[in-house]
Amino acid sequence: MILNVKKKNLIKLYNLPKKVIFCKKCVMSNQRPRITFNKFGICSACEFSDFKKKKINWKKREEELLRLLDKHRSKTNKNDIIVPCSGGKDGSFVAHQLKFKYGMNPLCVTWSPILSTKIGKKNLSNFIKTGFDHIMGKPKKEIYKKLTSLAFAHVGDPFQPFIYGQFNYPAKIALQNNISVVMYGENGEVEYGGDMKYAFKPYTDFEVRNKHYFSKIPLDAWEKYSLKKEDLHDFDAPLQADIKKTKLRMYFFGYYKFWDPQENFYYCQENTGFNINPDRIEGTYSKYASLDDKLDGFHYYLMFIKFGIGRATSDAAHEVRDEKISREEAVYLVNKYDGEFPKKYFNLFLKYCGINESQFNKVIDSWRSPHIWKKKKNKWKLRTSIY
Ligand SMILES: [Zn+2]
Repeated sequence: MILNVKKKNLIKLYNLPKKVIFCKKCVMSNQRPRITFNKFGICSACEFSDFKKKKINWKKREEELLRLLDKHRSKTNKNDIIVPCSGGKDGSFVAHQLKFKYGMNPLCVTWSPILSTKIGKKNLSNFIKTGFDHIMGKPKKEIYKKLTSLAFAHVGDPFQPFIYGQFNYPAKIALQNNISVVMYGENGEVEYGGDMKYAFKPYTDFEVRNKHYFSKIPLDAWEKYSLKKEDLHDFDAPLQADIKKTKLRMYFFGYYKFWDPQENFYYCQENTGFNINPDRIEGTYSKYASLDDKLDGFHYYLMFIKFGIGRATSDAAHEVRDEKISREEAVYLVNKYDGEFPKKYFNLFLKYCGINESQFNKVIDSWRSPHIWKKKKNKWKLRTSIY
């Protein structure tokens, strides 16, 4: 089904700097889209992390949270807040805190993984059993499949259809239930490096998220690949007019409370029946992040191909910022695990997308930019690495 794979111009597509440099504090490079570096060679995520630790008055921020929640808390035991939650450590932490610490009545919303893992399903069911109202959005299987395969080839991210749904579905459920607060975990743009315009705001508007999250590809762009509007309906955003009417906003818990993924993990282990992956996750050293979907290794692998930033780099960078590991340890881990091929589900991925290995490689190579990659003795090598 994948024909016509054209070589992409990554520099132009993502507005990337031509010279690769690495942050002097963490291990992130300047190839992460929208990240900025200061004159001392420190990335915006590290700058924000410093700010978060030293400058933010967290007591005041919690008071702001209380004001928001008091305004929306239901008196009749109706659901009063939406928490997008897959059963992973972050969403579960947010939902559990909102319900048991702040007396809210969350409706938790999951957008179905493309191919769920056993451990992901178990974590979600354990989480629901701790006492949550929950709703799962599932698109038509055939459409999910087709979109995933198309997104792999044309956007270089098989996860794109998941991202549409994960973003749009909670908003739709909010509107259906007349709820105007959707509470996300952290603002990734701010925590991990990106557009800092929103660092001092507890919420973002729907349009802003739309811009960053969908690689600038609106959903209807897929109609040209013989997908009909009604096929895409499950993935679609709610109507702008409805969003305005209910004043729906997407808030970030990380604005109000100090965000620390590892602490969320400990919290969920204790409170929501969260289990780690029995094995190390391919491409990184961690066992507890993003383990719901069999295909997410390919999302991270493509990120490595496009930007030279793999899953170990992302994980290690924020663990350095959170002072869990040193930069030296991080460099070691990046060297050891970054860009490791996700072979565990490779055959499944090929089968799911209806492609063969050579078509797969063709797509992968179309996303290699010469400013990141060079070929040496017929093997691809990173032009600049941190090790
Ligand atoms: Zn940094």
